[in-house]
Amino acid sequence: MAVLSEFSLIQRYFEQLTTQREDVLLGIGDDCALLQCPADHVIAVSIDTLVENIHFFADVDPEHLGYKSLAVGLSDLAAMGAKPAWFTLALTLPEVNEDWLNGFSQGLAKLANKHNIQLVGGDTTRGPLTISIQVHGFVQPEKALRRSGAQIGDMVYVTGTLGDAGAALQLQLREWDHAALNVEDKTYLSQRLDQPTPRVESGQYLTDFASSAIDISDGLLADLGHILDKSSVGARLDLTKLPLSFSMSKVDRKTAERFALQSGDDYELCFTVPPQYFAEIEQGFEGQCTRIGVITSDEGIYFIDDNDALIALKGTGYEHFPS
Ligand code: ADP
Ligand code: MG
Repeated sequence: MAVLSEFSLIQRYFEQLTTQREDVLLGIGDDCALLQCPADHVIAVSIDTLVENIHFFADVDPEHLGYKSLAVGLSDLAAMGAKPAWFTLALTLPEVNEDWLNGFSQGLAKLANKHNIQLVGGDTTRGPLTISIQVHGFVQPEKALRRSGAQIGDMVYVTGTLGDAGAALQLQLREWDHAALNVEDKTYLSQRLDQPTPRVESGQYLTDFASSAIDISDGLLADLGHILDKSSVGARLDLTKLPLSFSMSKVDRKTAERFALQSGDDYELCFTVPPQYFAEIEQGFEGQCTRIGVITSDEGIYFIDDNDALIALKGTGYEHFPS
């Protein structure tokens, strides 16, 4: 088969790939896209780059890769409380492989169409496989969920379950295994790593109630740490409350906690809520969310374990507080 030109590649795989929105005055095909932002809103923008052998394995399923490349951007929009609208794609390819392009674009379209986000432009170049996606969403400026809004006395919550993606990565790298995990567990964990669920609707719901939010891409401790730094507060977490999936709850508790606290790639949201909105979160939240702690005036993160003993955070790990 003749190798596709750049022009026909774009036309075949990307021009009509996603939903067509009315606020796109001009999409793929000109020098720029022309986009209409709704009144009283601003545009939330974020870009992420995935590089082969650094962010993903060379033999990863291209459909999963397409899905995940967009999922990480949607997760940033979710963490800001923004409603997804448009994205652009900069694709660097070592060669034109139509099987790969087909899988990649299908994975991308699957998630894009679920969230009504339109591909409006991009760039295609030759080189080591690299995918950059920039997402754009709408949010009212006073409602955007910033990292800097946490106040003493706010409760700390997370969506979903933690540690699944980190465990899946260690399993894939063959650096860890656990006798209690069967084939279904491993499939489930892999799916959490390869096709994470960006909490887009949850993020928008939270704009009326949360004082701060972040998405968990580097691990709960690291990402909650960003909220604490930007808000100049501390947190006390209840280790017994960390939400674990059915699969990870089969693993010994200490190991599961370590994954939940320290491993990344879960793309759940961590957020803080002032006392007057507890009911809206505990009762009105669609999907799972778990209260794991409270914002305090002490700098850093402290933990309560199942013996009610206080544990202090040291560096990126945690160890018992010397009494
Ligand atoms: P220019 O030379 O003006 O940058 P290009 O030839 O790179 O234009 O791209 C032509 C059109 O195709 C532009 O509208 C651009 O946004 C779009 N495009 C290029 N690559 C991609 C891609 N990978 N995904 C989506 N749109 C793309
Ligand atoms: Mg170009």
